[in-house]
Order: sequence, then C-alpha cells, then structure tokens
Amino acid sequence: PINEAKLTFLSRSANEGFARTAAACFAAQLDPTLDEVNDIKTAVSEAVTNCIVHAYPDTLGTVTLRLRLFPDNSLEIVVKDTGVGIADVEQARTPLYTTGGADRSGMGFTIMESFMDQMKVRSAPGKGTTVTMRR
Ligand code: ATP
Ligand code: MG
Repeated sequence: PINEAKLTFLSRSANEGFARTAAACFAAQLDPTLDEVNDIKTAVSEAVTNCIVHAYPDTLGTVTLRLRLFPDNSLEIVVKDTGVGIADVEQARTPLYTTGGADRSGMGFTIMESFMDQMKVRSAPGKGTTVTMRR
C-alpha cells in the first residue's frame, strides 16, 4: 500500500461515529465524491455496529479498523473483532437474516456488499470476525 492507518478502539457505541469519520478522513486523500464518501461511511458504520452489537453482546471488546490505500487508488477497509464469531457466514450474509431481534433488519452485510466493490467475511465461533472490503 502507499498509505495505511490503523485504529483500535473499544466496542462502545460512541466509537461507531469515531470510526466512520476516521474512515472518511482517510478516504479524503482519494478526492472522492460526496456519494463515494457516504458509501464508505455507511459500510464502515455497518461493520463496526456489528462488532458493537453482535461480537461483544454483553461485554466491551476491542475493534480494529485498518485502512489501506493502493497505487491503483483502491481503498481496503478491514474491520476486525475477537468476539463471539459467526457459525455460518453464508447464512449471516443472507439479506434479512438476523439474530438481533426486532430492532435489527438483517441488512448490514447486504449494504456493505452493495456499497463496496468487494466484501469478504472470515469468522470462527469463539475467535472473532474479520470483514474486508474494497473499492
Ligand atoms: P442490521 O445490520 O440490519 O441492523 P444485523 O446486524 O442483524 O441487522 P447483518 O449486519 O447483515 O444484520 O448481520 C447478520 C448477522 O450476522 C447478525 O444478526 C449476527 O448474527 C451476525 N454477525 C454480523 N456481524 C457479526 C460480528 N462481528 N460478530 C458476530 N456476529 C456477527
Ligand atoms: Mg448489522
């Protein structure tokens, strides 16, 4: 990469905005359109919210956001937790699938996938989840 930044923060809901804004600031060096910045902010927000809500349901844990910029102007965003993990990633990625109950719509992964060009999810129960997005 030609530039890289890494942020580590606690899974407090206040840090969702912190992560979203930090990603937007990092992406600013790409001279993005307003639409592009908003897509990046939304994708980061969904990924970080998942860590806060699902990865560490009754505790506080560590969330890592890594941002990398490549020579072809592509941006890679990695959101990582070491929380509960996901048993069936395929199922979790299905639109409307949620374990979150009535206040969740099950659209987070679908939104990340549609707002970014690529999304990979690596997860293991009890170990945590890593979401890698590119655009
Ligand atoms: P929404 O994002 O629309 O509020 P949601 O969070 O349930 O609802 P997704 O973001 O698509 O929907 O996630 C689908 C499911 O995958 C979640 O309900 C949860 O079971 C699981 N999941 C997602 N991210 C994580 C994570 N970081 N750790 C553990 N489980 C996760
Ligand atoms: Mg979600």
